[in-house]
Amino acid sequence: MTQPILVTKDMPFCPGCGHGVAVKNLAKALEEAGFRPLDVIIVSDIGCAGLVDPILATHTIHGLHGRAPALALGVSLGLSNPGKKVVAIQGDGGATIGLQHLLEAARRNVDMVLIVLNNLLYGMTGGQMSGLSTQAFKAEKHVDDDTPPFDIVRLAHEAGAAGSARISAPGEFKAYFQEALATPGFSLIEVACLCPSHGVKKLKELAEVIPGDLKLSRQRPPARASYRDTGPLFEKGGPLPAPYSSCIRERLGIVIAGSAGGGVQSVARLVANAGIRSGLHATMKGEYPITVGTGFSLAEVILSRNRIHYTGLEAPDVIVAVTEDGMAKARSRVKPNTALVLDSALRDAAFPDALYGNFHKEAGKQGAALAAAASWLIREGLLEREALLEAARGHQHGEALMEVIEKAAGMVRGLPV
Ligand code: SF4
Repeated sequence: MTQPILVTKDMPFCPGCGHGVAVKNLAKALEEAGFRPLDVIIVSDIGCAGLVDPILATHTIHGLHGRAPALALGVSLGLSNPGKKVVAIQGDGGATIGLQHLLEAARRNVDMVLIVLNNLLYGMTGGQMSGLSTQAFKAEKHVDDDTPPFDIVRLAHEAGAAGSARISAPGEFKAYFQEALATPGFSLIEVACLCPSHGVKKLKELAEVIPGDLKLSRQRPPARASYRDTGPLFEKGGPLPAPYSSCIRERLGIVIAGSAGGGVQSVARLVANAGIRSGLHATMKGEYPITVGTGFSLAEVILSRNRIHYTGLEAPDVIVAVTEDGMAKARSRVKPNTALVLDSALRDAAFPDALYGNFHKEAGKQGAALAAAASWLIREGLLEREALLEAARGHQHGEALMEVIEKAAGMVRGLPV
């Protein structure tokens, strides 16, 4: 049995608003194409067009003004699921504010539908002109501006869209939506809409101020399925070999904290690389002040036996900190079960169970973070020394890094048990 896409008959728009007609047609088109509500991801924009979220039983994401196509592009590439459909909805204001995002999705031919509800103005803020306001409409509104509007249907086509169409005389336009939903790749449908509150109030007047119907298409394969399927990003030329082993059973979250110039980001990348060489999935991300080269430097690494679908790290399993700057930044993330690996200079009565080592003394300012992380990972059997050495080998400072890793392996014996 078809599950309804619309959850209510009460539209959130002003009486007579064309957006309601468009949304009802979209819901019908989705239902008749066999989509269940949770097969559909609606990405809405700021403005009256963005009021659709609560009336739909689908997934909904509400984005920044003009950014609905960019969000939808990300969702579509990330999902890479032919059973799901991503539909972005925005007004003419949003479409021109974020025109680059629209063109980017068209250029890449991302598998999604973008519906632009064009009432020729910004409705929510009182009727200001947009980049799609036509000269005929502006003349009618006594707006002294002869700048021509964008033709987004042609622009999307020129950029590479699989399909783009303008419906200038609204009515039963469900068929256009159905065709767009069935088209692999990027489809844009511009729908002329009434805005009884600030714009055109009658259907027969609408066709007079908007260019006529237009339908353009081209044959092109959709954007590649997903960045996830391209293999690890750490090395060109295919997946890294994984001859090493690790005793990580599920997932390990590591925070490495130091200061600018201490190679913290390189250490994180190296650990992630060694993890991949040990048959694990890995992510890394860095955090540092805008003024790169000063203050703290912090990096998160996740190593996991399974695919990592969420890269956030609320509760790290271990924090490796080698400078005061770094520790000050990471301190609030210490939880009762967090293991701590700290440079001896950071000895703190609040952390009597931390593993303290003379990392700075042994490996210097630039090697301390690597020495601390590597010695703990080797000691715990989480990564093999050889995996870390192999990860360092291709690095521009490979020799120096390998020297520190060897030192770290030696330090393991001297660390408290
Ligand atoms: S202001 Fe215009 S576009 Fe917005 S809901 Fe009202 S009629 Fe529709």
